[in-house]
Amino acid sequence: MIKHIPLHVRSKEDHQTLNSRFGFPVAFIAVIMALFVVVIARQESDHARLSRARQMMDTYFTIIAYGDSAEIEPVIDRAFSRIAAIEGFASIYDSGAEAFILNQTGKIAEADPELIGIIERANNVSHLTDSAFDITVNPILKLWKLGLWQKPDVQQAQEIKALLPLVGSDMITIDGKSINFQREGMSICLGGIAKGYAVDAALSVLKAGGVTSALVNGGGDIAVIGLKPEYEPWLIEMENPDDRLEKLASFKVVGVAVATSGNYERYFDPQKKAHHIIDPRSGFPAQGCISVSIIAENCEMADALATAVFVLGVDDGLALIERLDGVEGMIVDEAREIHHSGGMSQYEAGE
Ligand code: ADP
Ligand code: MG
Repeated sequence: MIKHIPLHVRSKEDHQTLNSRFGFPVAFIAVIMALFVVVIARQESDHARLSRARQMMDTYFTIIAYGDSAEIEPVIDRAFSRIAAIEGFASIYDSGAEAFILNQTGKIAEADPELIGIIERANNVSHLTDSAFDITVNPILKLWKLGLWQKPDVQQAQEIKALLPLVGSDMITIDGKSINFQREGMSICLGGIAKGYAVDAALSVLKAGGVTSALVNGGGDIAVIGLKPEYEPWLIEMENPDDRLEKLASFKVVGVAVATSGNYERYFDPQKKAHHIIDPRSGFPAQGCISVSIIAENCEMADALATAVFVLGVDDGLALIERLDGVEGMIVDEAREIHHSGGMSQYEAGE
């Protein structure tokens, strides 16, 4: 990128050296030329493509935005700060975060309204999905993370059975600003919804800052503003989990969000059966899907539904997608077969 200020400084230096050697006329031409260069640089910066990435929320967030770089750079910084603030209350690993404290103590008297909002919407998704999505699955997720997959089948079943009574979003009581777990030992994970929420929030900051063409990607959860320059829709490419160089599908998106849940990146065991998406009803890692991509109006919903459909599997998952307005999806099953919802083709970009 050619920046406005450095060019200006350089041209001024040129002017001084030329002036001392050749006198006024050359200096005058140099100033005219410098102005010309500055004007060109300004025009270029009007069409600048900025791409910035930061490691946050246990993944990478990327923001791509088009516009005048001097104007959009600080807005992008503010969008990243917003994501950092969300991580600041929604993390279950950071001892200062409200979600962490809630998991430790089972209650928060004066909770951040944003945390309450996320939990309430997560609980709505539980109702929508027949409890395939449930943030209270965390005690069981922890069992698997700690190596349950290494234990004999009988012991796995016993340990899961002992903790299943702690799973159920209806055992979270929200009353005004307070959040209470009804059973001791309950805990939540927001990994299936908070990233999507953060993408939406970052997008709002960009919009409020006047950005009219941008894409926010939080570890594969993506939302966009407007079109690319030349009025092109944003193209989102899904790679083949078995061969990263191969593309499984390309989606053209305008005004919607896309989120993907895939177990291929986060297996705990070498047999690749135990992973981080758990069926809250059985307590076992969901089987049947390799990857689920959901298109929805906002990224929070797309994120949560991708996890839910992954748990529900192909048949029930597609049935759920078809029931919901404005939601489409693509599922890759264990046999590497690809399934689409009825309206998915409107987003497909082809070759
Ligand atoms: P990724 O993090 O790879 O994008 P997901 O969006 O599907 O994948 O989120 C997985 C995370 O969601 C897990 O790490 C865990 O925190 C949480 N989770 C796992 N199973 C469920 C479930 N059935 N319902 C709600 N959240 C879940
Ligand atoms: Mg996700």
